[in-house]
Amino acid sequence: MSLNIQEQVSLRPYNTLAVDVRARFFVAVNSLEQLREALLWASQREMAVFLLGGGSNLVLTTDLERLVIHLQLQGIEILSEDAACARIEVQAGENWHAFVQWSLAQGLSGLENLSLIPGNVGAAPVQNIGAYGVELKDHLESVLVFDRQTGQTQRLSNEQCQFAYRDSLFKRESGRRVILSVIFKLPKQAVLQLDYGHLRSYLAGQRIAQPTPLDVSRAVCAIRAEKLPDPKQLANVGSFFKNPVVSAEHAEQLQKTYPNIVSFAQADGQVKLAAGWLIEQAGWKGVRQGDAGVHAKQALVLVNYGAASGQQILELAAQIQADIRQRYALELEIEPNVIGS
Ligand SMILES: Cc1cc2nc3c(=O)[nH]c(=O)nc-3n(C[C@H](O)[C@H](O)[C@H](O)COP(=O)(O)OP(=O)(O)OC[C@H]3O[C@@H](n4cnc5c(N)ncnc54)[C@H](O)[C@@H]3O)c2cc1C
Repeated sequence: MSLNIQEQVSLRPYNTLAVDVRARFFVAVNSLEQLREALLWASQREMAVFLLGGGSNLVLTTDLERLVIHLQLQGIEILSEDAACARIEVQAGENWHAFVQWSLAQGLSGLENLSLIPGNVGAAPVQNIGAYGVELKDHLESVLVFDRQTGQTQRLSNEQCQFAYRDSLFKRESGRRVILSVIFKLPKQAVLQLDYGHLRSYLAGQRIAQPTPLDVSRAVCAIRAEKLPDPKQLANVGSFFKNPVVSAEHAEQLQKTYPNIVSFAQADGQVKLAAGWLIEQAGWKGVRQGDAGVHAKQALVLVNYGAASGQQILELAAQIQADIRQRYALELEIEPNVIGS
């Protein structure tokens, strides 16, 4: 057997929330053949599996009585290109930010606003990663998956992935499809999206009047580094809650009571509210309970100061959710994947 299956492996180094739980079995796979072998090994033992990428969107609540499969397939290939754009296939185990930087170095654009998002390419479609007004779905052509139900590989078009705000087919039918690679279609003529966050004012402050995609990427990195804790310094999973999306009438009502509420009009007429603003106004910023806390600079980020368990982080999250429900009659949905046993 070519697989190196290990037993009782601590997952602390494999999740950015640094929760210390164990995997009953753990294996790294570098190819479709190894993936098939690992899945067969698990099914012969009637053992559940868990698909692990960079571990930056997980809240692990218990030891996992499963085979954890760490997806490490590598490779970036230009499939075709013309004067307007290039089609690039990227394997699931490639680091997301490194791929974004690679694409910019090739003179390709589109992904600059998604710079510095942790994790791997294979997990990016799972929650349709997004930042600064751009989502993965805006530049994704198709995804190659291994469907565990049929035992076959299948190519899914952008439409078939059913992307939505921090959501997709892969998140809704979690664990069924293993994403093997993603094909992106990236333009050579940049159409920059500068309307979100402080991008425009940051670039103006740098005296950059006509930014390139690389300038935008650098600006995004600088703004993110200032606002978000680096998981290597302070364990976290980025935004802990999704921004609630409400009807225009509901948003208007809230605006009457809270004139400074931060909101973004959506193309479909609904309104997205900044969850971080709601949580900060409710007084949670900087609150610490044992080793679980709300980040001092960004109320949307829950942090682990050292030895917090996934359960303790979730207990803090539940208190915030209850408070937001009571104050604003709004439901905050947890963004990362909560995984137990
Ligand atoms: C500091 C910080 C900032 C962040 N900022 C953002 C942001 O701006 N925008 C944003 O959208 N997200 C953000 N995130 C969340 C996270 O980085 C993304 O969701 C990322 O895509 C997760 O990738 P990962 O490889 O770490 O996935 P993991 O955490 O390993 O896995 C996430 C889920 O995907 C599944 N999965 C993993 N790989 C595969 C695969 N190949 N096939 C099928 N399923 C798979 C897992 O089983 C799990 O359910 C942030 C996180 C941190 C820590």
